[in-house]
Amino acid sequence: FRIWETTKVRTTCPHCGTGCQVDLLVKNNVIVGAEPANGPANRNLLCVKGKFASYKFVASGDRLTTPLIKRQGQFVPASWDEALTLIADKFTGLKQKYGADSLAGFSCSRSTNEDNFVFQKMMRTAFGTNNIDNCARVCHSASVHGLANTLGSGAMTNTIADITTDVDAILLIGSNPTDAHPVIGSQIRQAIQHGTKLIVVDPRKIDLVKDSAMHLQAKAGTNVALINGMMHVIIAEGLADQDFIAKRTEGYAAMRDLVAEYTPEKVAKLCEIEPQQIIDAARLYANAGKAPIIYCLGVTEHSTGTEGVMSMSNLAMLVGKIGRPGCGVNPLRGQNNVQGACDMGCSPFDFPGYQKVANPAVIAKFEKAWGTDLNPKIGMTSTQVLPAASRDEVKGLYIFGEDPIVTDPDTSHVRHALDSLDFLVVQELFMTETAAYADVILPGISFAEKDGTFTNTERRIQRIRQAVTPRGDAREDYKVFCEVATRMGYPMAYDSASQVMDEIAQLVPTFGGVNFKRLENENGLQWPCRTLDDPGTPIMHVGKFARGLGLFMAIPYKPAKELPDDDYPYLMTTGRMLYQYNTRAMTGRTEGINKLANHSYIEINYQDANRLGIQDGDRVQVSSRRGKIQTYAAVGDKIMQDSVFMTFHFTDGNVNELTNPVFDDIAIIPEYKVCAVAIEPI
Ligand code: SF4
Repeated sequence: FRIWETTKVRTTCPHCGTGCQVDLLVKNNVIVGAEPANGPANRNLLCVKGKFASYKFVASGDRLTTPLIKRQGQFVPASWDEALTLIADKFTGLKQKYGADSLAGFSCSRSTNEDNFVFQKMMRTAFGTNNIDNCARVCHSASVHGLANTLGSGAMTNTIADITTDVDAILLIGSNPTDAHPVIGSQIRQAIQHGTKLIVVDPRKIDLVKDSAMHLQAKAGTNVALINGMMHVIIAEGLADQDFIAKRTEGYAAMRDLVAEYTPEKVAKLCEIEPQQIIDAARLYANAGKAPIIYCLGVTEHSTGTEGVMSMSNLAMLVGKIGRPGCGVNPLRGQNNVQGACDMGCSPFDFPGYQKVANPAVIAKFEKAWGTDLNPKIGMTSTQVLPAASRDEVKGLYIFGEDPIVTDPDTSHVRHALDSLDFLVVQELFMTETAAYADVILPGISFAEKDGTFTNTERRIQRIRQAVTPRGDAREDYKVFCEVATRMGYPMAYDSASQVMDEIAQLVPTFGGVNFKRLENENGLQWPCRTLDDPGTPIMHVGKFARGLGLFMAIPYKPAKELPDDDYPYLMTTGRMLYQYNTRAMTGRTEGINKLANHSYIEINYQDANRLGIQDGDRVQVSSRRGKIQTYAAVGDKIMQDSVFMTFHFTDGNVNELTNPVFDDIAIIPEYKVCAVAIEPI
């Protein structure tokens, strides 16, 4: 690095799944600023997190810079050799004593595709288990399962530019892009200024409501009923695309017969909205020429999350708005590379590229490629691993860049699970709540210190580039996994991230045409990209669904698993705020951001607050059947009466002390979006 001038390094924002391109300004091996670049997803925009919080954490004095081993309850610095030998010996010992499936690994949805690929390869080869997962399990696993079931591919169907430019209407459901995906929020607002009609379905008056054509303030947990009600209207009024249904889909009759019961009057009662709103929304969406469905965790984080996602497919197929521009079913993925972590096989069900563990031919393919026997048993999800640790069935866990104590539901059970382990390794940038439980902590390196790729929410694989050297003794993450695997008896080595991508391209048909040279020259590629002359796929399911015919599912509405009662009379839902990002490991180390948002709060409708004697800004106690926390009251009319809303970023007043650890049966995703709480002034 030349020390006398500022250089620009083009890379990808490390926060949400929008995948904004950003230029890091680097001087004397220090990042001194960030500027928006003209990427395909962000078109010269950056939000406050991308502009101010995308780099300051890199040089934070809190960074872990050397391996640490816990001795007599204290973390003591250790050499890499000492730490890696201990890790390999401990995991090998547990494997020999209790079997390979007593081990598990959580990979990092914020790290690169290459790190994730090598992590799951290490778990499957050296460790010998498919107990490998990533944090999509607790955010969009329902999208992966639901869209794969109905369409044949579990990813966003269209591109960000396509669904926010020149569309007639947008159905935005369970998504608050202004806070969670701010650049997409800005693009939706621009679309509205050019005439797009926005339908918002959300229990809160999110920021975009003021620009919307209609707001269906449906009670949290009622999405399936609402979509069934809209489909009832569309069929009853002859607005369904019968030609599309006949030629491109199967399963229509059962779905049609089921939604016949979901009259607007019946659905309105369940959702606590007006019947006419359901009729108007159905007409607006069905009659619009181009109209995408955009959704987020308000659809997925339910005990019926996968069913909610399949309802989105039902609705789009009913009106033929899929497989063409300006339409489709579009989940907004939460983390910068949560799409990529899934694509790379950090899943107990899937090898890279969603090739199924349950398929013997897939096992044989990877055994041949990797030169070792592989475990044919489907693994446990992260949400199954933690209870299994509490039951002493999982003994050793390797966590790469995740912080389940803060992020998983029912925190006291997560603490108990981690306490129950015989051996825990955490590879991290900072000392997190979870790292404090580790036996060995390894220093990770940040996005600005490595080369590789992220895949954004629209399936676009984009480069990240090293801007500064790693801190202290920290090493490339995938090289650490290679060292661990090698010491456990499975030799593994790569010279570069580019070489890892070449192996991915060989093994994953949908990445067959991807390499670093093309990514440089073509400004990223959208998978499926099967051959070197394949330009990638901006819109999926054109002419034919990935599964052949699109599958309609008849999905009855089921209420959330825990609803308000006399003891816990408020329905609590959760979500992201604009300024902070997930556990705040990165944004919480940016002073300006903390000045804007430095504590948790609970939104309470002013009528409920009046009844409880609570004023805006008061401290309150919030309790559920799992625990109690204290936080600040934010009183207003943003949230509907009898419901409350909390953000999930803060360890002080952590909402996950309260959330309900019940799960969707298919994706095993927790029901973060609905639980019952009580509130009292302090
Ligand atoms: Fe980063 Fe997301 Fe903001 Fe873009 S919208 S700058 S990717 S946080």
